[in-house]
Amino acid sequence: MATTPNWHERAATLTPEARAFIDGAYVDAQSGAQFDNVNPATGKVFGRVAAGDAPDVERAVAAAKAAFGKGTWSRTRPAHRKKVLTAFAQAILAHRDELALLETLDMGKPITDSLKVDIPGAARAIQWYAEAVDKIYDEVAPTGPEALALVTREPIGVVGAIVPWNFPLVMAAWKIGPVLAAGNSLVLKPSEKSPLTAIRVAQLAVEAGLPPGVFNVVPGYGHTAGKALALSMDVGAIAFTGSTATGKLVMQYAAQSNMKRVSLECGGKSPNIVLADYPDLERAATTAAHAIFFNQGEMCSAGSRLLVQRGARDAVLEKVAAIGRSMPPGDPLDPATKLGAIVDETQMKRVLGYIDTGRAEGARVAFGGRRVRESSGGYFVEPTIFDGVTRSMRVAREEIFGPVLATITFDTVEEAIDIANDVDYGLAAAVWTRDVTIAHRTARALRAGTVYVNCYDADDITVPFGGFKQSGIGRDKSLHAFDKYTELKTTWLDLS
Ligand code: NAD
Repeated sequence: MATTPNWHERAATLTPEARAFIDGAYVDAQSGAQFDNVNPATGKVFGRVAAGDAPDVERAVAAAKAAFGKGTWSRTRPAHRKKVLTAFAQAILAHRDELALLETLDMGKPITDSLKVDIPGAARAIQWYAEAVDKIYDEVAPTGPEALALVTREPIGVVGAIVPWNFPLVMAAWKIGPVLAAGNSLVLKPSEKSPLTAIRVAQLAVEAGLPPGVFNVVPGYGHTAGKALALSMDVGAIAFTGSTATGKLVMQYAAQSNMKRVSLECGGKSPNIVLADYPDLERAATTAAHAIFFNQGEMCSAGSRLLVQRGARDAVLEKVAAIGRSMPPGDPLDPATKLGAIVDETQMKRVLGYIDTGRAEGARVAFGGRRVRESSGGYFVEPTIFDGVTRSMRVAREEIFGPVLATITFDTVEEAIDIANDVDYGLAAAVWTRDVTIAHRTARALRAGTVYVNCYDADDITVPFGGFKQSGIGRDKSLHAFDKYTELKTTWLDLS
């Protein structure tokens, strides 16, 4: 019978690789610089990571460019890429415990989530693109008998990916899968707050058969390594996931350098609309609670604004609070923990700052609102529910990226749609109703890349994910992701 691992014991014996991975080998930053890796559950440093900068990015991009030019990956048969990427996905699953532990130590999420959600999700994304790539056909345009016009997709060359810390490996895998399946080379810059799983899986990819230089990882800060990657003249496309503010900088860097293709997966302030006619308000409320408290609320698509119709308000709020009470922040390495630590002190202060702001703006804390487990040295914030929020308040307009729910009460569906769309973001939205016509009309009227009807956070690699408005440009997941990592070429042949 399998025994449950003691995660603390395992963590104590772990010596994670924390150097850059360039051209198939681990290397220190050329400057020798390192930065501290802090465990958010204890506030203690548990390792030092190579602080990559412009020279390291240059070296990684040069390796990626050379590998692309050699064609040992870029010009191989799709069936070969499928085989290697499948082996890579399986290697990720085979190292599930190790990778889950790294993820939890790095960014504070519960070990159970790392094991059940993050690592399998990352492997599935890579596996899915592996399986897709030898089933996609190019096109022949219907031009007429005197010519043959072929429309083909080609890899772009070197793709740079910059990813955040909230789902470190999953966000990376949503890029790694389609970028590599399409035949590109990749330089990945993980968040400085959570670099370890990216660093580790690059080696697994090479062991699975990926030629050296095709997949490189440069850890480092955003304003140094990230900026250098986005400014590189040899990077043909930059795939970014992170905040809207940084996404705007990435667009500027592309414009200042080589007009590289830019795709952006940015922030959100997603509305979750509950109409009083929905017959199972308890279910709607339970889902609403998980939509904001899962992953400590550090979720781009978090249902951070609960728009509840007046007649349903009391029942829904009561249940959301009950769920909040049932998931107090706990030790992320305890398998029973449902809510872990906030990623670092800066982010915790930001979340607590927004809670102060909400109070000062006149919203009422219906539950939570405090830092807890302070004696652990870690960064824990209670699930927090604001009631009496109005649309103009900052807690109703700005992304908090923590376990903080803003509840707004409305009377009519039209009013709810108007409030829902009245923010800069448009990543996700939800509506709960028993009326199929209202469901469809509301879904159409909501300005968001994903709309959930009578559910929240339904997820599958087969569907596109991304945002309207300032939530981003382009889509991750599904076959649409290939649009970001391929160029369309038209080839005319004269048959006259
Ligand atoms: P962030 O913008 O601070 O950092 C994201 C990445 O960009 C990190 O790797 C960082 O080092 C890098 N970076 C920072 N400054 C840079 C610069 N000047 N040039 C180049 N790179 C730079 O975001 P974060 O705090 O890591 O992540 C949280 C944000 O990510 C939230 O806004 C969240 O909504 C968003 N997010 C979006 C999605 C999505 O799919 N839409 C998914 C996950 C997270």
